[in-house]
Amino acid sequence: MYEAAIYAARTLGLGEINALMELRKEEFKSVIRNAEEKLLLGELMDKSMHSVFFKHVRDHGLSTQLTFSFLKSAGLMSETEGFIFACQDGVINTLEYRSKVLQVQLPDTSCRRCKQHPETLMHLLSACPVLARGAYIQRHNAALRVLYYYLRHCYGIDVTPVLPYLPGDIPQVVENDSCKIYWNMPFATTRRIDHNKPDIVLFDKATRDIYVIEFSAPAEYNISAKEEHKREIYQDLLFEIGKLYPGYRVKLVVLIVGVLGGMKQSFVSSLAKVPACSSKAEFLAVRMQKAVILGSLRLLREMTLACCDH
Ligand SMILES: [Zn+2]
Repeated sequence: MYEAAIYAARTLGLGEINALMELRKEEFKSVIRNAEEKLLLGELMDKSMHSVFFKHVRDHGLSTQLTFSFLKSAGLMSETEGFIFACQDGVINTLEYRSKVLQVQLPDTSCRRCKQHPETLMHLLSACPVLARGAYIQRHNAALRVLYYYLRHCYGIDVTPVLPYLPGDIPQVVENDSCKIYWNMPFATTRRIDHNKPDIVLFDKATRDIYVIEFSAPAEYNISAKEEHKREIYQDLLFEIGKLYPGYRVKLVVLIVGVLGGMKQSFVSSLAKVPACSSKAEFLAVRMQKAVILGSLRLLREMTLACCDH
């Protein structure tokens, strides 16, 4: 726990670690907290030592405020926050890191899971074909459950809110007088189309609106491309659903969170298109972000990749 705080202090450029160590725990925490606030304001954006993630944030049009909102509202332990900073700085003990940065002689730096690609952090978090079959799906669904159960509660399917982290299968269809909600349900369209199984489809029976909701958690530098790709590939389905349900308006909601929490402002504006979510869009965004981050950290912990002490 202390180690992580010291790591955070170093990452935040707080300098004299020894002097900080003499502070009482609460004071130490508040120094860290203040530095994190500065970070939220982007004041460390140009810091050259640890700026790769910030460059992604800036170059890919991500929102600094949303991307770092996990520091303010997610209620994560400081240890977890330190781990996230380590990931954002790329200071994670992957085989590539050990070989290239720590200069450890290794016979092979291929990913220990797929044995096909170099084991970099972003490979493990977003591009490994083996992890894609399990860990990525789990992380994706954990984040999506937040929204799914929120919708169920809003539309009266669940009288009391259900904890989104509860395990268990999600039914493909739930319905009442005001809504119908599909989870991962393929649509039987008249003509064959490639992408017919969106994450969530919400029918609002009162307003006669259908929301096709697609969510993804790619690497930070792929957020915009993923967003555009999703918008493109679901056009055929929107058209087909429109034909299947005449009288309904069909809208696409694309939600993307980077594997380390990166978010564009468009996440909130897209989510706000669903009236039930409009006043809670930021709240939901942060909870989904938290689920993605925790999923990424779980994955790294399962591979026993802890922070490097440097
Ligand atoms: Zn791999």
